[in-house]
Amino acid sequence: MTSQRTRARMVERLREQGINDVRVLDAMASVPRHVFVDEALASRAYEDTALPIGFAQTISQPYVVARMIEQLTAGREPGRILEIGTGCGYQAAVLACLGREVFSVERIRELLERARANLRGLRLGNLRLAHGDGWQGLESAAPFDSIIVAAAAPQVPGALLQQLAPGGRMILPVRRAAAGAHDAQQLLLVERGARGFTETELDLVRFVPLETGKI
Ligand code: SAH
Repeated sequence: MTSQRTRARMVERLREQGINDVRVLDAMASVPRHVFVDEALASRAYEDTALPIGFAQTISQPYVVARMIEQLTAGREPGRILEIGTGCGYQAAVLACLGREVFSVERIRELLERARANLRGLRLGNLRLAHGDGWQGLESAAPFDSIIVAAAAPQVPGALLQQLAPGGRMILPVRRAAAGAHDAQQLLLVERGARGFTETELDLVRFVPLETGKI
């Protein structure tokens, strides 16, 4: 259930769902997703679903991980990447297969330690984890060519806009308080051009909230 074949089937499914960037598909074929979930859930690791990882948090659904990274990297090299919301470390590992350097920030210390343990065996020398509040970004390592946020905010955090390099791209879910759709969220692609920021609205999604402060 956790073999290379199961992973290949997940990638095949992603392709059928419309993901066609070979770099993204290859990265997802190479990261053992079952390593990032509890042993009791390992047999479900390759299903196209979010799964609990403790602390009321979840590992993101494979399709959403693939879709966000595909949008982030479309037509260019992702360069230096900042991820907000390390969680179990799965998406960070996928990003480390694609980017030059990856920084990932998590607010829950215990979860960050768990992510570190999950990632140890993969020996990803270009991945750095940090304990912090993602609303602040990671000033010490800025600017970033790519920023990806794995938790939903009511608006785009200003610090992340500031830490995005010229020509850089950020993808994040934002809460949309549309009438009747109480907790609707939408993926937003933000690009920093010569004349400022442009925003493109993408799919409706469901993420845990981007909280404030670190614990
Ligand atoms: N990237 C993960 C998904 C983690 S779920 C994966 O590969 O599946 C989102 C994560 O964002 C949770 O671990 C949550 O604790 C974290 N988070 C929420 N608010 C945050 C904040 N302000 N700063 C950093 N991390 C935050």
